[in-house]
Amino acid sequence: MRFTKIVATLGPASASDRVVGDLVSAGVDVFRLNFSHGTHDDHRRLHGLVREAARRAGRVVAILQDLSGPKVRTGPLAGCAPLALADGDPLRIALGDFAGGPGRVSTTSAALVRGVKPGGRLLLDDGRIELVVKAVDGDELVTEVVSGGALGAHKGINAPGVELAASAPTDTDVEDLRFGLALGVDLVAQSFVQSAADLGRVRDVMAGAGRAVPVIAKIERPVAVAHIDEILEACDGVMVARGDLGLEMPLEQVPRIQKEITRRARELGRPVIVATQVLESMTVEPRPTRAEVSDAAHAVDTGADAIMLAGETAVGVSPVRTVRTLGAIIEDAERGPSTDQAPFGRRAGAGHGRALAEAAIALAATSGAGAIVAVTRGGKTARLLAALRPVVPVFAATDDAEVAHELALYRGIVPVVADVGPEDAVERQLVERGLIAHGTVVVFVNVHPDLARPEANFVNLLRLA
Ligand code: PEP
Repeated sequence: MRFTKIVATLGPASASDRVVGDLVSAGVDVFRLNFSHGTHDDHRRLHGLVREAARRAGRVVAILQDLSGPKVRTGPLAGCAPLALADGDPLRIALGDFAGGPGRVSTTSAALVRGVKPGGRLLLDDGRIELVVKAVDGDELVTEVVSGGALGAHKGINAPGVELAASAPTDTDVEDLRFGLALGVDLVAQSFVQSAADLGRVRDVMAGAGRAVPVIAKIERPVAVAHIDEILEACDGVMVARGDLGLEMPLEQVPRIQKEITRRARELGRPVIVATQVLESMTVEPRPTRAEVSDAAHAVDTGADAIMLAGETAVGVSPVRTVRTLGAIIEDAERGPSTDQAPFGRRAGAGHGRALAEAAIALAATSGAGAIVAVTRGGKTARLLAALRPVVPVFAATDDAEVAHELALYRGIVPVVADVGPEDAVERQLVERGLIAHGTVVVFVNVHPDLARPEANFVNLLRLA
């Protein structure tokens, strides 16, 4: 079994019943709906395709809503052709949302126009185009193209080193979040988080909407890296969003930051998603580069919970092949010795639940059990077990379908919706559904905060009949 989870972004290349079904069969654990693109109708349709494909496959597959955050972008263009920018060309970036054309494009970001100084660098369209700011003329930046290319409409603008005042969630995020919660998404990622307060605002919106789901903080700005400890305390998981991070910070620092965020998140038991350009060349090629394979294997070695595909599955030539390739890379990496140096810290999850989880893992290791079976009503026992990184899979049985979907992101957890009452014989349900073979030795763990419960708070070793 593969322990490290695969998150796949849906987009034009994967927005059909057939491809979503094939992606589920190929092993996607979590689908990402990217709210930087598409309409609510598009996302509603994709959500329905995933739910239907997961139902057909009989698997728990989660849906992650990715809120676009205060991303700075260029505005629309007059006509549909991209703007050809050659090195040395002048280009003005003006505050507004008019349709741009040769020599002048718009942006709605007042923070950018007012925050950038002459001499500052601007990176457009994922860094493909570079500009240098020559002067500021009222609400317009007067720039010169340093490294040219074709500029389409609504492309990202990064201003490395410039603190942008805008914080998350934006008004659009709030509207999108309310829509996503009503639609039934399982997890929410907030882009451009800068502090714990941003996450508090996301949770306030959830409280107002009457539905709370786990919040993933996307780390993609230097200020988020500086505030990583408070963000980790306040979030339910993190994404190392290497796309924007690699533009906002010196690129050579990204591997170290990724490693450090992974280590600190794991100390707190927060799941970590490593994202962006994982198998980038497969957007156009049938095979990844050796370096990409190494990068993905390295994410596994350092103990990431999940690896995310973005453009590869959203706009790539072969989304399904890419997921299969990533699955094979992960499985092989998981066979090797782990360079894991970040055990789950003592300060998190203390109490009898942790002691029982540790006992279950120790028993699984010494008995040669094939799996751990955990009853997890609200997901806590499963999260605890995942954070302790057992070497056998954990079948996490819950009678709450929402909890099961949230658990799809966690390393080594197989979420199962099952009846979990005292008389329900969870292990028999797993055998009957073909999830665990007859005769397998498993460790069964059941934790409850109430020690007076006779049907809980034990670890049991048994061979399944
Ligand atoms: C990233 O920047 O790496 C990322 C995942 O975010 P987005 O795709 O929303 O830019």
